Amino acid sequence: MSIRHRVSFPPMSSLLLTGGRIIDPANRLDAISDLLITNGKIAALGPAAAKQAPADAERVEVKGLVVCPGLIDMHVHLREPGQSAKETVATGTAAAARGGFTSILCMPNTSPAVDNSSTVALIHERAAQQAVVNVYVAGAISKSIAGEELAPIGALKRAGVVAITDDGHCVQNNELMRRALEYAKMFDLPVLDHCQDYSLVTDGVMHEGYWSTVLGLRGWPAAGEEMMVARDVLLAETTGSPVHCQHVTAAGSVKLLREAKKRGVPISGEACPHHFTLTDAAIAGSEKFWSADGKGVFGFASGTSALPSWPSYDTNFKMNPPLRSAGDREAILEGLADGTIEILCSDHAPHCDYEKEVEFDNAPFGITGLETELALSLMQLYHTKRLGLPDLIAKFTVAPARLLRLSKGTLSPDADADVTVFDPDRAWVFERASSASKSRNSPFYGWPLKGKAVLTIVRGNKVWAADSESVAA
Ligand SMILES: [Zn+2]
Repeated sequence: MSIRHRVSFPPMSSLLLTGGRIIDPANRLDAISDLLITNGKIAALGPAAAKQAPADAERVEVKGLVVCPGLIDMHVHLREPGQSAKETVATGTAAAARGGFTSILCMPNTSPAVDNSSTVALIHERAAQQAVVNVYVAGAISKSIAGEELAPIGALKRAGVVAITDDGHCVQNNELMRRALEYAKMFDLPVLDHCQDYSLVTDGVMHEGYWSTVLGLRGWPAAGEEMMVARDVLLAETTGSPVHCQHVTAAGSVKLLREAKKRGVPISGEACPHHFTLTDAAIAGSEKFWSADGKGVFGFASGTSALPSWPSYDTNFKMNPPLRSAGDREAILEGLADGTIEILCSDHAPHCDYEKEVEFDNAPFGITGLETELALSLMQLYHTKRLGLPDLIAKFTVAPARLLRLSKGTLSPDADADVTVFDPDRAWVFERASSASKSRNSPFYGWPLKGKAVLTIVRGNKVWAADSESVAA
């Protein structure tokens, strides 16, 4: 397997991808065709591509593979500055490239927080030196993400942030949130919210329900999320300023979003693969999970390979918001299928082994996700026939690009040549040793997965290729 962590220089002048299934939801395109990239831009699609390709163009046959706009993950924790033991711009973007992602939005809960223009500049500078994919920066809503005083939203916008959020935290003061929305509207900045009502959630560590009672762990009730989704619906309606609800997990949240969207409220939502694959039963260990809720995971019924196993109280199943019930998981899948939830993302949240190797109560929330999210999304949405490939790809491309106002997420002529080539049917196993992330806090090691990025191209440069990976098909 060849892994290119860095953009290769000098950039090749022309690259022709031949015979792939080109899917560009932004242009409603789905056809077997060729794609020509020249000098980092999309030059031509269709019969014109081969005709226009210069004699010295590199030709790569991608027959049987999907060619789509470079995938965008708008929820990633890169941990720089301040927490580079967990992840860095270099390792986080390498993991993104491996997962098929060409653009990511990094969250502001770093140390210091991204609540000032110099921290934004620092991340941009580091990305220019070390990133292999495009890095966009989210600024904080409040100073130090403390929820007490607004961050300088205008200055953050001028420094180049493309959204604001207090992710990891949630602004509890409704008046402050209302003012944030009003300022954000003036500066045309999307507001993203990690929906968590502290008074309801208190010190919960897992979903409040049957399993939290059985396991004796403190519950994080679904209402703790739904309360803030309802608040955001009301404030979006009051201010006319759009709000995007991050990592939605609860059935009640999906219902609130669906109803609000019907009345034209400017509200949107995103979902993460762990929340629509796993459930809270997983915290009781693999045996308990596979005997019931695990049956809702694609591939379970085939029973061909040994099911992955893990112990109870495994902290790689602890995240915020938490894994919820099978009913919630189904509601998220339905919300994705009917368009209520328009964006897929990972909430890639790396932590060091020593931090996770403690009692469940004391472990930090979060798991890595960039390298498994495409496969899990294909498994739970496409292979189960809930969504066709164009609709699934839209949630990773044109939808986040539109929300963040990025000129990305399309294969239109002259667009940046950010392209992902993936095999929706490739069977593979996610191995601990093969991850590009600096951290190893994933619950999905040893999982038989289906669907994999095989070539990731950023501005015409191949930043990752699974050239000769052994295929367990
Ligand atoms: Zn969050």
